[in-house]
Amino acid sequence: MIQSAKGTYDILPSDISKWHYLEAIIREVCELYNYQEIRTPIFESTGLFERGVGESTDIVTKEMYTFLDKGNRSITLRPEGTAGVVRSYVEHKMYAEANQLTKLYYIGPMFRYERMQKGRSRQFYQFGVEALGANNPMLDAEVIALSVNIFKRLGLKEVKVLINTLGDTESRLNYRKALINHLKPFQDSLCTDCKKRLEINPLRVLDCKVDKNHQAIKTAPEMKAYLNAESQQFFDNVLKCLDDSGIEYVLDNNLVRGLDYYNHTVYEIISNVEGFGAQTALGGGGRYNGLVQVIGGPDIPGVGFAFGMDRLILALEAENITIPESDNVDVYLVTMSDKTNQFAMKILDILRKNQIKCDKDYFDRKVKAQFKQADKVKAKYVIIIGEEEMKQNKVSIKNMKNEVQETIEVKELVKELTERLEVYYESNS
Ligand code: AMP
Repeated sequence: MIQSAKGTYDILPSDISKWHYLEAIIREVCELYNYQEIRTPIFESTGLFERGVGESTDIVTKEMYTFLDKGNRSITLRPEGTAGVVRSYVEHKMYAEANQLTKLYYIGPMFRYERMQKGRSRQFYQFGVEALGANNPMLDAEVIALSVNIFKRLGLKEVKVLINTLGDTESRLNYRKALINHLKPFQDSLCTDCKKRLEINPLRVLDCKVDKNHQAIKTAPEMKAYLNAESQQFFDNVLKCLDDSGIEYVLDNNLVRGLDYYNHTVYEIISNVEGFGAQTALGGGGRYNGLVQVIGGPDIPGVGFAFGMDRLILALEAENITIPESDNVDVYLVTMSDKTNQFAMKILDILRKNQIKCDKDYFDRKVKAQFKQADKVKAKYVIIIGEEEMKQNKVSIKNMKNEVQETIEVKELVKELTERLEVYYESNS
């Protein structure tokens, strides 16, 4: 038997209501903040990610699904969403109007060739936002607030916002020099990846999982000592906005995030809930003022985030948050004999044209088994069609909760069911 490819999994109908719930809240909150959805291709030219994610990152060096297509083009399945969104932004000149802020969000699958474990797979799902066009600390705070509000709406309580600043280019370069000077004497004892990072992007040594307890990291200089006045002011403004909106956060000097093009604000949201597993990061983001230019556009600032949806589902489960089950059908049709089947199909058609979710049996089951099926699909009403009633253009409807059954004219059926279902949903909401 052929099984799903290693690192992938099916989201089965029994689990889909969790995903629908999550997606609906993401859309609702993003739209509340005036972000519009964008859908970019699942695959892009490999060069986009090499430039847009950064050649020193683990994603580009180790994790991309890259192949040559039949036209000998190097193609990569997207490992993250930002590069594609920014490519589209540049390609479609969304910046053409002066002082235009473009607020976009996306939801979709991403692909990384990673070692699998709980909360980490090779096809996984992310949602994210990108706000392009303004270098305003209020926008950094808005993006953070948006993500926190999604978590709140989901009912997640055990989450913590970690925040740091990498400063502007000048501050970052000064810090980089100081960090290299500090790390050089320890170079031989750092892990293989960090030896390379030291040359290409030394900031990333700070968030190395292998070397996290290394003396070199514990004694490293802190970014905040190298921030110039403007960068400090920018960060203070972000924090002030967060304070004003009552968003709690923890300052984390070692937070640098994996991508190469971050500057100013970087943040991450982690789950604190017990039993969540080793992968506690739900996602994060920050400001990336150089990225649009790196991807071939003008010098336009941007800020955004990406969160893993698979991990959010795990967090919902770990916090025992009950997700509203989506109801299967409202009405199930039970036919008393073969002769009523055609008539039943007509009734189904009428109901569906009137937005009533309904279904019937297609296995010629006995009446009792049809009722069993009605229970299984959680039908609120059953319509019973007998030969005699059919001749008079009538059917019986049975309320599955109180078992009351009555006969009504077919022409009254839609009106009756609509009213009764409304009452049902009101009393169950
Ligand atoms: P990143 O784009 O690496 O900053 O990742 C952002 C978030 O996406 C992470 O915090 C995870 O929640 C999620 N994520 C990244 N890689 C994976 C993966 N392989 N499997 C599941 N979720 C992932």
